[in-house]
Amino acid sequence: MYLKRLELKGFKSFPNKTDIIFEKGITSIVGPNGSGKSNVLDAIRWVLGEQSIKSLRGDKLEDVIFIGADNKKPMNYCEVALIIDNSENIINIDYSEVSIKRRAYRSGESEFYINNKACRLKDVKELLLDTGIGREGYSIIEQGKIDEILGNNVNNRRKVFDEACGISKYRYKKQEGEKNLKNTKENLERINDIFYEIE
Ligand code: ATP
Repeated sequence: MYLKRLELKGFKSFPNKTDIIFEKGITSIVGPNGSGKSNVLDAIRWVLGEQSIKSLRGDKLEDVIFIGADNKKPMNYCEVALIIDNSENIINIDYSEVSIKRRAYRSGESEFYINNKACRLKDVKELLLDTGIGREGYSIIEQGKIDEILGNNVNNRRKVFDEACGISKYRYKKQEGEKNLKNTKENLERINDIFYEIE
């Protein structure tokens, strides 16, 4: 499994449709200051569901959409697609190639797609659990990340190892199960209350 391609349109400094092809192995992104290297990483983090605008070096949601330049009008929406090779079936889906796409509008709406089928952020998160690629995965190691992991408290550091060992999925399912159980208990209490009221 590896990242095959990143497709950008209207994202930050990439107004035109831009495809970045990654080969197997290590890819280096080089360029002058301010040329958009970090924006490429922001795009990967964003398409994987990053919700924190601060992590994407912005102040408000629409800061990820191209704001316009001298000879180019601002865009009303942006779109990023990440194409992942899944020939080894590491991602639990019946396709040898997985495309995760996110589109956002200035109005604040945001849409997610898995292989061009509309889905929820939750679906993207669940699909990528334990692959190391997810928003909280370790596939993006930026400046200061190693220090952050080493300096983290035990629980946060453990999350990185959980993801690498394939435990995150079970922890996530346990939390979801506990949430459902809590909701069901609350619903039962509500039903009992209504019963008492009727009796
Ligand atoms: P450095 O090497 O200095 O870290 P970099 O190559 O990583 O730079 P980025 O930080 O990725 O550069 O890109 C910064 C550029 O992106 C700036 O010129 C900034 O104006 C532009 N930019 C950021 N957001 C937008 C946006 N919404 N619309 C248009 N341009 C944007």
